[in-house]
Amino acid sequence: MEPESSEVLLAASRTAMLSSDESIVHRIRASIEAVADPAELGRLHVALALAHQGRGEPVASDEATRRAVPLLLSAGLAAEAAFASAMGAVFADQSGDVARGVDLAVDALVLLGDTEHGAQTMRTTHALCGFFARLSAFDLAIDLGQRAFDTAVASDVRPVDGAVYSFGYVAAEGGHVTDDEGRRRDWLDRAATAADWLRHHGWHESSRTMLADGLAADIAHARGERADRDALEAGATHYGDVVPDLVAWHRLVRGTAARRDGDADRAVELLDAALPGLLASADNHCVVRALTERSAARATTGDLTGALDDARELARLTRSWQLDQVGKLAGQVARRVDLVRMGSTLRSDVERLARDVDHDMVTGVRSRHWWERHATDLARRDGWGTVTMLDIDGFKSVNDVHGHLVGDAVLAAFGLLVRSVIGDDAVAARYGGEEFVVVETGTAPGCGGALAERIRVATMEHAWDTIAAGLHVTTSAGVAHGPLASVRDLLVAADLALLEAKRQGRNRVVPADPSADLPG
Ligand code: GH3
Ligand code: MG
Ligand code: MG
Repeated sequence: MEPESSEVLLAASRTAMLSSDESIVHRIRASIEAVADPAELGRLHVALALAHQGRGEPVASDEATRRAVPLLLSAGLAAEAAFASAMGAVFADQSGDVARGVDLAVDALVLLGDTEHGAQTMRTTHALCGFFARLSAFDLAIDLGQRAFDTAVASDVRPVDGAVYSFGYVAAEGGHVTDDEGRRRDWLDRAATAADWLRHHGWHESSRTMLADGLAADIAHARGERADRDALEAGATHYGDVVPDLVAWHRLVRGTAARRDGDADRAVELLDAALPGLLASADNHCVVRALTERSAARATTGDLTGALDDARELARLTRSWQLDQVGKLAGQVARRVDLVRMGSTLRSDVERLARDVDHDMVTGVRSRHWWERHATDLARRDGWGTVTMLDIDGFKSVNDVHGHLVGDAVLAAFGLLVRSVIGDDAVAARYGGEEFVVVETGTAPGCGGALAERIRVATMEHAWDTIAAGLHVTTSAGVAHGPLASVRDLLVAADLALLEAKRQGRNRVVPADPSADLPG
């Protein structure tokens, strides 16, 4: 059977958010099993995250977005990866890991960039707006909500009511919370734009009435004005058409309107009905407002014990939320510090490894690894060079007669000797066991071999018996001269010449080109 496409399943899981369809998760998993393309797999994981969200399973949603982001990034789909990260932020927060939520939200912001991707940008900014509002980061939340709103009304994607309502709701909430008069005015004006848009362009009947009137009343309250209670009460007829969070919020606004109208009994009734839903939606700002309003309404009705209970509960919750928030932020800071620290140790480890890998421990010259990289660089250069291959004569018998430790000491001394002979004129690398390659650049034709000869003589004349009594060491060399562009061919030629030097009896330098002029 053909796997169902991510397009079909994404659409289905967006619907499943409302219907909590059980089968959708199985259908998505079946497709995930059947496809290999990273873009398609990434989108299927986004669909899976949405389906789990619809079923109230934030941990499974979190897990699915974790898989989606790298897949979408590897397919070059930054806008879709941004949306997946933003959703991941919301799920992480819902699963109680606000620190990871912040990291994911920042990733989403970075991936989002300034480019416009229609529905994708709308969904991402919408999710981030809600996430940052819950953290009371209203400046950021409202700017993101504005972007969601602007994108929503400019795009053809329907329905966009949710994004517009969220923006209005968050901007109004910011208006309730802030002490800054300028900000309050700006945010409430923006919230009013969203309410107006819903009233005139809302896709659903409930958006044009219940949500538009509810927002208008909420804005009026934040401005210290009276709300239109008749319109508000009429909105209650839509409670069967919308999600429970919206019903709870609307009851809060109605309760607030009733109290401000002096209708304290009604206010208590409405706020009693609102609070369980507000607590369930974990919307702390609304819970604070509801308890504040109910405490005041209870006091008005003469229920002073109830008023005190609400005030106490409010104090307890805000204190625990604050501690919670402070604790989480402290954890986040600690994690960032760890990361920075880890980054710097990693950097020094990497630098040390880079040094290690380029150097040969025993002989102090460059490593074979360095040579391979350097040869590639050399081959890109203009000009000429000389490559010398050196091999210590009869080295196996040094080991056999004196032991491997003496063999190592000979290698170390030979490395030092080579370095002191070549100075800054050339570089040497250990090519293999007791084989070394020496490269000179910018050498004129005909002069190749002089350096090799100096090494050979210095080796022959070195006081090896300081390492082991009776020890004597010589070296053979093959030398090739030519354009650096073919430096690897020069190495092969030098190696063949070295074989010839061994064949001729060792302790000698043989040029690859027999016509080359060798001194001494
Ligand atoms: P030739 O004159 O033909 O070059 O003879 P040779 O004995 O030098 O040649 P061969 O390549 O057969 O021997 C090289 C020996 O070098 C073999 C190996 O045990 C030894 N060797 C390679 N690397 C090391 C090392 O790091 N330490 C020590 N002690 N010995 C090494
Ligand atoms: Mg040898
Ligand atoms: Mg050898």
